Amino acid sequence: MAATPSPRKRGSSAVRSKTLDFRVGGNDARHVPRKRFGQHFLVDQHYIERIVGALGAQPGDRLVEIGPGLGALTRPLLDRVTHADVVEIDRDLARKLASEFTADHLSVHVADALTFDFRSLGSDLRIVGNLPYYISSPLLFHLAQFEANLRDVTVMLQKEVVDRMIAPPATPEYGRLSVMLQVLFRIERLFNVPPGAFRPAPKVGSAVARLTPLREERPHLADERLFAQIVAAAFGQRRKTLRNALKTLATEVQLESVGIESGARGETLAVDDFVRLANSLAVGSNAE
Ligand code: SAM
Repeated sequence: MAATPSPRKRGSSAVRSKTLDFRVGGNDARHVPRKRFGQHFLVDQHYIERIVGALGAQPGDRLVEIGPGLGALTRPLLDRVTHADVVEIDRDLARKLASEFTADHLSVHVADALTFDFRSLGSDLRIVGNLPYYISSPLLFHLAQFEANLRDVTVMLQKEVVDRMIAPPATPEYGRLSVMLQVLFRIERLFNVPPGAFRPAPKVGSAVARLTPLREERPHLADERLFAQIVAAAFGQRRKTLRNALKTLATEVQLESVGIESGARGETLAVDDFVRLANSLAVGSNAE
C-alpha cells in the first residue's frame, strides 16, 4: 500500500524543500531523511539486487531486517520469504511499512536495535540490513551477544568499519572490534558500495559484509567477561606495552608463561593469543 504524506507536511514549503521523493521499488513515500537516525536510503537497484542476491533467502528463512527505512531491501526480500521481522526506530517509517504488508507477512518492531532482544525472535535468525552508520560498532557488539541464535548476518556498513572487522593483527585497523568479532564469527567482505547508491549520499564509502558464527570452530572461552576485559584493556591505549596496558589483569610472569612478550603491544597479538591468555588467567583465578 502506498503511504500518504501528512497534509501538514504537504502544505509546509519549509518542510517540502527538504523532502526527497523516494519511489524505490514501487514505494510512493515522501520522507524527510532524519540525520539523527543515520538515514541514507538505498536507491540504486543494482546494489539492492546484489545485497538480496548475496543473502540468497529461501521461503522458510527467519529473516530479520534492521532499519528497513523505506523498504528498499524489505520489499524484494519479502518476495522471497513467507515472513520477516523488521526492527525500525523511526515510528513514521515503521507505520508506513506496517500499512503496506499484512502482519502474517511482516512483523514490524518499533524499537531501538541497540537494545532489542533478538533472542525473542527465535533461533537460526538471518540478520540483514543497511545499518545506520552512527551506531554500527555498538550494534555489532550487541548482535554478537546473540551469536548462538544467528545463522548469519549480512550487513552494509561504513567501509572503514568493515576494514576493522576483518583486519589481521599488526595492522592499523586491527583492534577491539576485530578481536571481539573474529573470536565468534567468520567475516567476509562481499563488495563495496559507492556513496552514489544512496539518497542522501553519505560522505563515506560503504561495504557489505557477512558474518557467520564459527559454532564448533569457535575457541573455548573459560570466562567471556574476562576475555572482553583483556581485549578492551589491550587496545585501550594502543601505544602502551601489554605489561602496562594489562597491569591490573596480568603480571609479566603470567604473560610470559603463555608465550606472550610483555614488552609487545596489544595490536601484535592474534585472536588465539588473547584466548590463551584469558583462559590461563581464568584458570588461575578459579584455582585460587
Ligand atoms: N534499509 C533502508 C535502505 O537501505 O534504504 C534504510 C537504511 S538507513 C541507512 C538506516 C535505517 O535504520 C533507517 O531506516 C533508520 O531509521 C534506522 N535506524 C536508525 N537507528 C536505528 C536504531 N537504533 N534501531 C533501529 N533502526 C534504526
